Amino acid sequence: MSDSINLSELHWLLAIVQSIDVGVVVLDREYRINVWNTFMENRSGRLPDDVRAKSFFELFPEVDEHWFRRKVESVATLGTPSFTIWEQRPYLLRFKNYQPITGLEDFMYQNTTLMPLKGLSGGIEQICLIIYDVTDVATNRLQLQAANQELQRLSSTDRLTGLFNRGHWEEMLRQDYARHRRYDRNAALVMFDIDHFKKINDSYGHQAGDAVIQQTAELIRQSMRDADIAGRYGGEEFVVLLPDTESEGAVTFAERLRQSIEAHEVVHDGQAIRFTVSLGIADLSQPTSGYAQLIERADTALYQSKSAGRNQVSLYR
Ligand code: GH3
Ligand code: MG
Ligand code: MG
Repeated sequence: MSDSINLSELHWLLAIVQSIDVGVVVLDREYRINVWNTFMENRSGRLPDDVRAKSFFELFPEVDEHWFRRKVESVATLGTPSFTIWEQRPYLLRFKNYQPITGLEDFMYQNTTLMPLKGLSGGIEQICLIIYDVTDVATNRLQLQAANQELQRLSSTDRLTGLFNRGHWEEMLRQDYARHRRYDRNAALVMFDIDHFKKINDSYGHQAGDAVIQQTAELIRQSMRDADIAGRYGGEEFVVLLPDTESEGAVTFAERLRQSIEAHEVVHDGQAIRFTVSLGIADLSQPTSGYAQLIERADTALYQSKSAGRNQVSLYR
């Protein structure tokens, strides 16, 4: 093809390379820079004369040399182009992004194409890099992902307490139950309900009741481990799933929680409110038909605690 291009064509081809809005870089096999177009000059702040015949790695220490060499060597060996996209590596060269969006990185996201260039002898003597500025696409995508994550979080948590809501918590229980079936792992469920909560609402007002619910959630968070999964099951009913836990460990947890709630004082509008909870526990050591049965059993144990006088822990047997 090079034979068929005359000098005037070469001239305007170069003009095009200079003016297009993508980066064009040509490297020789020693990774020295031979071509550096206007885009590269503007974004890097380095003039073509400053970079010509200089080592790419010395000029741009941010390039992962080991990775880049392997990439280039395979392009040269196979004689076929290769690509890197921003999802894998945000950029090849760290250029400043001049329209930074708050909360996002201020570098230019880049996609890069690596093309083998044949010399007159037919061998691959140079590699051409074409660098695309994909900052707009990347930031839109990342913002969308962040918004989706936030929506996901909002739809899975309860507003008042920040604990999982019932629907999401049941879904987590369903998944953990499946793990239990597959790997024969135990799990325990602690379910509890605030005692005489109607009286708290009646005596102190609904907002005080809300504060009690909120602080109960906080006490759960303080008592549980990272792997435990806590949810607000109903108005003043809570559930905590303890994966890989025997009933004995669950009783210890429930008793500690019961005591911390009993010892806690909610101060609302200058009034000190004390309250207690009744708890029920079931685990998977007995044959179970499904996760719904585990909930039923914990609920039965909770009812036992209520009828035996409240402010206590019962284990389903
Ligand atoms: P028990 O010891 O038998 O559990 O008595 P209780 O008074 O707690 O009985 P019950 O579970 O029937 O009452 C729950 C009350 O909780 C009824 C409802 O008005 C109130 N409630 C439910 N959700 C909320 C809420 O989000 N905030 C407030 N402040 N109250 C709520
Ligand atoms: Mg109650
Ligand atoms: Mg209740």
